Amino acid sequence: MHLIAFFFAASLAFTAHAAPDDTLKAYPAKLVAPDTWVITGPLGEPSVENQGFMNNPAWIIAGDQVIVIDPGSSVQAGRMVVQAIKKSTRLPVTTVYNTHVHGDHWLGNQAILDAWPKAVLIAHPDMIAKAKAGEAESWVNMMSRLTEGYTDGTRAQIPTVAATDGMTSKIGTHTFKVHSSNDAHSKTDIMIEVDNGVLFTGDNVLNGRVARMDDGTFVGNIKAIDHASKLPIKIVVPGHGNVGGTAILKAQRDFFQILFDTVKTEYDAGKSDFEMKPAVAKKLAAFKKWHGFDADLGKQVSLAVLEVEQQ
Ligand SMILES: [Zn+2]
Repeated sequence: MHLIAFFFAASLAFTAHAAPDDTLKAYPAKLVAPDTWVITGPLGEPSVENQGFMNNPAWIIAGDQVIVIDPGSSVQAGRMVVQAIKKSTRLPVTTVYNTHVHGDHWLGNQAILDAWPKAVLIAHPDMIAKAKAGEAESWVNMMSRLTEGYTDGTRAQIPTVAATDGMTSKIGTHTFKVHSSNDAHSKTDIMIEVDNGVLFTGDNVLNGRVARMDDGTFVGNIKAIDHASKLPIKIVVPGHGNVGGTAILKAQRDFFQILFDTVKTEYDAGKSDFEMKPAVAKKLAAFKKWHGFDADLGKQVSLAVLEVEQQ
């Protein structure tokens, strides 16, 4: 009885809406490479419990200014990121890269612009186009729904500068190179290589979590990882999950390749997606601890079947 009352009270506390200037609870920021800070978000889907926050916001201190990558999923998350940046430096944010159109990565832009109104927002041209064509609004609504209104007050600040593949920018004391594709995780993805050996992969690479592939292709995502694997980098900051070395790239590639190859073999043998799921799960046994493995594998198999059919 006591326990039930406790959980009821706890859930009431969680469902309280954000106050106008509400800021997400602070998550620790870690220096993962020289001048490079990352806040590792919790693994999982946007929810009431995580207040919609689950990505990996990051910033690079580059001499006289700061460059941000993916400042989070809401204005409330973005404010938490702004506070963490201000703890690490008094320098202003001048530039923000958004890795792709999924709003859990970029709806925090609003808080960056509130703090540093002159900051320039950069993304894939198709990210900008899709956000304008309705994705921005649907992500704002989705975040509100999944957090039961916690993220309300969030407005989409859509990037204005389009990043082309290979675009190299010297910003302050660091150089940033964009690696772009049209057929990977969301078809609007850029990866950002910094000259201190860090690669920000966006959701082309996750660590310990099954990716949502509804908007992308497996073959294109594998191709993007192969490209990333040839870059002179040492540290990989995935879209979700812990920062690590280049082994993260290989693990994500293996997951996709094993999944896709097994689906193709089973498809050629005349199996339906429902029938082939156990065989795919068996081949992917090394990944069964990844977040979402049980819940999302069926959907991934169905998406891979559709992609095989189109080949
Ligand atoms: Zn994504």
